[in-house]
Amino acid sequence: MNWLDCGQRVKAGGALTREEALAVLQSSDDEILEVVQAAFLARRQHFGRDVNLHILRNAQSGLCGENCAFCSQSASSAAEIERYPLQSIEEIVAGALDAQRAGAVKYCVVTSGRAPAADTLDTFCEAARLIRRATSLHLCVSPGLLTEGQARRLAGAGVHRVNHNLETARRYFPAICTTHSYEDRVATVRAVKAAGMEACCGGILGLGETLEDRVDLAFALRELGVDSIPVNFFNPRPGTPLADQPPLGARDGLRGLAMFRLVNPTRDIRAAGGREACLGALQPLALYAANSIFTSGYLTTPGQGRPADIRMLEEAGFRPAKLEM
Ligand code: SF4
Repeated sequence: MNWLDCGQRVKAGGALTREEALAVLQSSDDEILEVVQAAFLARRQHFGRDVNLHILRNAQSGLCGENCAFCSQSASSAAEIERYPLQSIEEIVAGALDAQRAGAVKYCVVTSGRAPAADTLDTFCEAARLIRRATSLHLCVSPGLLTEGQARRLAGAGVHRVNHNLETARRYFPAICTTHSYEDRVATVRAVKAAGMEACCGGILGLGETLEDRVDLAFALRELGVDSIPVNFFNPRPGTPLADQPPLGARDGLRGLAMFRLVNPTRDIRAAGGREACLGALQPLALYAANSIFTSGYLTTPGQGRPADIRMLEEAGFRPAKLEM
């Protein structure tokens, strides 16, 4: 495969085929810099050298009745994590002010659980109004499965984007969760788009899925027209059913990111949870495919911290994206 020709074609608006996407994941170690360069051609065309910084807030942790096998917040997980009920509007707004001071462009408020209770939705809507008034941040919320009516309420309150991941391919989904379905997740993404919000929707690499499953996920996201794709790298958590899953290798993590970029060249692609644990010393190379990162940690695990993230991206010649006022 001539990877540079492939990158030039995608940069010019051409589409990657499924066979080519699979070839990205199967590329040899000798080809890996050419694969990353192909992804970079598309990344630079649409995002320059900017990196969007996202800050997560886990506004309700643990005690979820669903059985996602990777998740330490599931009630069926014995992982040692902090568990707490929904935070107050004041706490969520204070987190937004901190995120703005830290140079984030997106503030992502997440709650554990299958779907939002009525008071969770009320809290999100009121917090959204206050955050819109007090900051210029884009607000993303991740409250679980949504109906169209709930999505319209969030949109009306000023929520800019909703996150709801497909997690993995349709074929593999029943192996990681049986309390809700892949179709339930797709319906939520469609409800978010129908309500006029941006859809943030991605998945986790390394749950035991095949390379073809990874390709299927990337194409499913393209078909859904999602706006933002968090690519998470599975970091097995002690106490969860997948605790003994072998970790994803750094080079496979990089190939995965490059493939998601080449299949979805114009989308916000995030090197998301597990970045540090999976990519290790290869982390800076992720910036050549991804144009955004979470900084300041994840839902239940810490990251390398904002100062190290900023140093990494600046040393690699990238810069934090600025908020449009
Ligand atoms: S629904 Fe969300 S919080 Fe609940 S177990 Fe699944 S991933 Fe974890």
